[in-house]
Amino acid sequence: MNDTSTRYVSTRGHSDCKPFCDILLDGLAPDGGLYLPKRYPTVDTATLGRWRQVYHRQGYADLAFEILSLYIDDIPPADLRALCHKAYTALVFGTGEIVPLRHLENGLWIQALSNGPTLAFKDVAMQLLGHLFEYELARRGETLNILGATSGDTGSAAEYAMRGKRGVRVFMISPQGRMSDFQQAQMFSLTDANIFNISVDGVFDDCQDVVKAISSDADFKRDYKIGMVNSINWARLLAQVVYYFAGYFQATDTGTGTGTDTEPVSFAVPSGNFGNAFAGHVARQMGLPIASLVVATNENDVLDEFFKTGVYRPRGSANTLATSSPSMDISRASNFERLVFDLQGRDPAATRQLFADTLVHAGQFDLSLHPAFGDLAARYGFVSGKSLHSDRIATIQDTYERHGMMIDPHTACAVKVAHEYRQPGVPMIVFETALPAKFAQTLIEATGRSPDRPARFDGLENRPRRIHMMPADAGTIMAFIAEHANGCR
Ligand SMILES: *Cc1c(COP(=O)(O)O)cnc(C)c1O
Repeated sequence: MNDTSTRYVSTRGHSDCKPFCDILLDGLAPDGGLYLPKRYPTVDTATLGRWRQVYHRQGYADLAFEILSLYIDDIPPADLRALCHKAYTALVFGTGEIVPLRHLENGLWIQALSNGPTLAFKDVAMQLLGHLFEYELARRGETLNILGATSGDTGSAAEYAMRGKRGVRVFMISPQGRMSDFQQAQMFSLTDANIFNISVDGVFDDCQDVVKAISSDADFKRDYKIGMVNSINWARLLAQVVYYFAGYFQATDTGTGTGTDTEPVSFAVPSGNFGNAFAGHVARQMGLPIASLVVATNENDVLDEFFKTGVYRPRGSANTLATSSPSMDISRASNFERLVFDLQGRDPAATRQLFADTLVHAGQFDLSLHPAFGDLAARYGFVSGKSLHSDRIATIQDTYERHGMMIDPHTACAVKVAHEYRQPGVPMIVFETALPAKFAQTLIEATGRSPDRPARFDGLENRPRRIHMMPADAGTIMAFIAEHANGCR
């Protein structure tokens, strides 16, 4: 076959056309760009109908296999199917549907992406990544030491996905005393031998600085086989494409696993690094009938500003507000470069100019006069909005009072913005990206009640913990990694 969609290029022009498993372990392209498939495979209505049946009869893992196999030609199909089945089980996700939909009111749905081990949507992609990493490292006879910084959700999703996996160790740096009690208990109670929680005296930015310092040391990175699982990893995005299809099939089901497969639906996505929303763009480019992709931000509204004005104005950490939807407190959306690449007709020189030559324009740019910006809503479906703390509290309260349903502050942000873009007859699916149990304080403020916690988390705070305390110093942490790293004699 010579289907170019299974090969990958960089947004900045590096064009080795790598196969999937190379970029799985690479992360960033050598020119600093992000990987994308050479083109998006497209599916017709008949294929959508067949996938609908696959999801209905065989379930989420087989649907994931169908979609992933269009992008992966260097894992034998039987192995890829087995990996999907290992990742997407009712045991891990607490429900056989993996990403079930529930109806809120007249065509407004909530799609639960947050039933995985850490109660946030990042589990959906990360669980698959854990199995892909273990498989590919074994095949190559290699090992990997994953290094990361976390303010909460990403680190724990990575740790729960990689715990006990052969060939992988995780070194996760977090700021001492800055995460919620639940988040700390969740991470630090992992006692698996391949998980190392490094708690440093500092804030999240200090943790990130340490990771940057270590990963810019090419010798250390090579000698100690340092890898990353950050949100620019293409495999994570690809795994997220699957639940758009699963949401679509559920919202348009006529009752028996059938539907027209042409009826449009919209999605509202709580956004930060733009990975989740970009996966929707990929699904739409593939041919899924998506009317609008509603990008919802909190007070950190870099993306909302871009979609409204065409001006992209990332902010520094000093200008990033700490909000009640902390996983969206991001002012430089790392996946945004992928969209800009597509908007500019996939011209790597134009993308390079905007993202690499930041000395010229301080990282900001204005696409308001670019023809692609005028087309953004009509051609690509993107619209946006934002919420303030008071909006989220009001939305949580309203949803609880009228429907008896508790939603978390990230989901509430998207529910609020979704209402601004309802179209008659078009179902609107709002992604639930975390369970309310993770953000008890805000739920109590809004409803006066504590959210329920899944039974498996009973007594979480009292479990034994394994933490390594250190100063936020790259040298100290490098010495620690050198001592505990995998396969580096
Ligand atoms: C990471 C996260 C987001 C933001 O997702 P992006 O892909 O970074 O846009 C939203 N909500 C929750 C709960 C998250 O953990």
